[in-house]
This record gives sequence, structure tokens and C-alpha cells, in this order.
Amino acid sequence: MTNDYLCPICKSHVNIGNAVVISAKSPENEKGLIFLDAELGNYNKTTHPEFKLQQGVKYTFYCPVCHAKLNTQENPNLVKLLMIDESGKESEIIFSNIIGEQCTFKIKDKKAEAFGPDADKYRKYVDLPTEYRKYL
Ligand SMILES: [Zn+2]
Repeated sequence: MTNDYLCPICKSHVNIGNAVVISAKSPENEKGLIFLDAELGNYNKTTHPEFKLQQGVKYTFYCPVCHAKLNTQENPNLVKLLMIDESGKESEIIFSNIIGEQCTFKIKDKKAEAFGPDADKYRKYVDLPTEYRKYL
């Protein structure tokens, strides 16, 4: 699997090796970097031991390159990245900003593919904007 992940704003690559690097901030203003696994449906997260992620808490995510907010404007509870797969096709990757919620949507050609054990719950996510809901 050699998917590339890009910031939707500056289009910089945010994946290094098997990790997607994202800058995050808690509501209490604790800041740090998170390594997410580049494999869709793998929810391993690595942080510096001093940056402890709090389960169930909503974080704000930023591009580590341009520092743009990755939480979408339409819905701050959803975080968006672009993914380019091995065949060069671009998808939108949408995931929750709540730590511990294991659900990801891959939206390509107006079709959504769900990953993660919480995906069913996520489908009913009332906040999912209509522009994404129509794909489900
Ligand atoms: Zn960026």
C-alpha cells in the first residue's frame, strides 16, 4: 500500500513512511504532532509521550506544513485530507475529530466507502453534511 496523503489546502505530502503526520490541538490548548497509520481502517496513533490524546475529546487538526485547519469549514467535527492511490486517483478522506472514534470515509467518484468499527454509528452522524450524506 503506497497511498499518498495531501493537505487539501497546500497540497503538500503529509505522509512519511507509513505515517500520516498531523498537528493537533485539544480544547485545553495542548498541542502536538500525531502519527496516524496510512492504512485505511488502522487506527494506531503515535504521539510523543508528553502529548497524551484524550479519548472522546474533539481536537482541532492542522496541516503540519501550512498550518491550515483541516477540520472542514462546513462541519468542524469532520477532518479532511486528500489521498492519491497507487493508480494516481484522488479521493477525499473524511474522519471524525473525536479521539477514539474509529471511522473513516473514503469518497471517490461520488461514492463513499466506510472503514472502521464505528462506521455504522458514523453513518447516522447527524452532523454529516448533506454533501457527504448523499453518497451513503
Ligand atoms: Zn497544508
